[in-house]
Amino acid sequence: MLLLSNFIGGKFASLKEETYIDSYNPSTGKVYARIPNSTEYEINLAVEAAQKAFQTWSKTSRSTRAQIMYKIADILESKLNEFAVAESIDQGKTLEFAKNVDIPRSIYNFRYFAGHILHTEEKSTVTDNIALNYIQRYPLGVAGLISPWNLPLYLLTWKIAPCIAAGCTCVAKPSEFTSVTAYMLCDVFKQAGLPEGVVNIVFGTGSKSGQALVSHPKVPLISFTGGTVTGKKINETCAPLFKKVSLELGGKNANIIFEDCDFEKTVDTSIRAAFSNQGEICLCGSRIFVQKSIYPKFLDAFISQARQLVVGDPKDPKTKVGALISKQHMEKVLKYIELAKEYGGIIECGGIRKKLDGEFSDGYFVEPTVITNIKSSCRVAQEEIFGPEAINLANDNQYGLSCSIWSENGRRARRVAESIQVGYVWVNCWMVRDLRVPFGGVKKSGIGREGGEYSMNFFTEQKTICLAN
Ligand code: NAD
Repeated sequence: MLLLSNFIGGKFASLKEETYIDSYNPSTGKVYARIPNSTEYEINLAVEAAQKAFQTWSKTSRSTRAQIMYKIADILESKLNEFAVAESIDQGKTLEFAKNVDIPRSIYNFRYFAGHILHTEEKSTVTDNIALNYIQRYPLGVAGLISPWNLPLYLLTWKIAPCIAAGCTCVAKPSEFTSVTAYMLCDVFKQAGLPEGVVNIVFGTGSKSGQALVSHPKVPLISFTGGTVTGKKINETCAPLFKKVSLELGGKNANIIFEDCDFEKTVDTSIRAAFSNQGEICLCGSRIFVQKSIYPKFLDAFISQARQLVVGDPKDPKTKVGALISKQHMEKVLKYIELAKEYGGIIECGGIRKKLDGEFSDGYFVEPTVITNIKSSCRVAQEEIFGPEAINLANDNQYGLSCSIWSENGRRARRVAESIQVGYVWVNCWMVRDLRVPFGGVKKSGIGREGGEYSMNFFTEQKTICLAN
């Protein structure tokens, strides 16, 4: 049994009171790791360590910070397979996805932000020959970084990398469902020579460890990725304390398909957008709108491909859909499918738990599910399900994260893209990411933008200094 410990001040630390949480392997349904359930006491220690480290790290040159970050990336890359295997066991995702998406993107997060701080400049302005204004940008202090279970290392490093690049230090709390690769990352930090206390990782539940971190008075900024309900709670805690908050929340993203699309590419990518990572990506295209003239043809092709997706052992290269994160989550997904039926939804394929043999007999597998005949007002069309689902017919939505548009008519694609209320629109593609551009949502999908200079803006503050002649 794997036993994790917190990483505080550059050392693996034991708990004051030994309370642990069981962590399950979603594909077998068996406990395979135990996670410390940290209390306010451990959070306090971690914040103290981060505060101490901030005094030196915030004054460390950009080139030294970048050098260490490049080293972190290199070491992580040399252990890509090891990390991918661990991520797949811990999360239930396919090994192929972890190898090609999660871990490479985690590596790139460090490389990208290391490069970013070496290649940015600040502006200065002269006021009518009477004064010079220049902007001093400075890191804000200790950041609290809270990440979800769907893309564990990828989203954790998406926060840690810009944070330490900016000269901040942090206390990070990964999801209690997926803590293992974060724990492994601590050794990488040590090997890369990251000074003690720059990154502290504290494990535990959201209500206990997360809440203690968010409400800590010495943590002036909170970067959170997770569900909308949690985001609201965090915002309520932070607002009276005037903390800077970035909230990357849920999505229920539309995939809009026109008759003049490149049909094969559209079907292939729509399948990926719906079912990659078992549908557990905030950017998944879970609501599909198809122009009437090609609807029957699209539905046939889409269902036929969805049926061919192999659900099973995440290690098997043939597997395209692994296990859902937990028993509770699987039950939630299945409940939404039942709800869809009650509202007259037609289950075109899937719709049930997938029972496997042998070691996977208790795994949390659900067949890729396509539901049609759903009204826009139905909860199935409104709420994030985060499972292997695709829904036809829905229009307005409380979320506003991303959208894909499929059309070979540029003018039409632009017109639709510009009128959609989301933070990110892909035209004829899905999940193509450039870390320089702003990323984030509107409505219940969040507040703030991350990526390139937008992340830097979050982790730093700007002071204008006006010098008279
Ligand atoms: P969650 O909100 O349950 O948990 C996210 C993190 O918050 C976990 O580490 C959890 O322990 C912690 N947490 C929970 N309650 C807390 C509290 N009161 N105070 C502080 N921390 C607390 O989300 P999840 O189920 O882990 O992740 C899935 C959600 O994340 C989905 O809604 C998905 O859309 C969203 N997500 C969004 C993005 C994005 O970029 N917008 C990316 C990935 C996932």
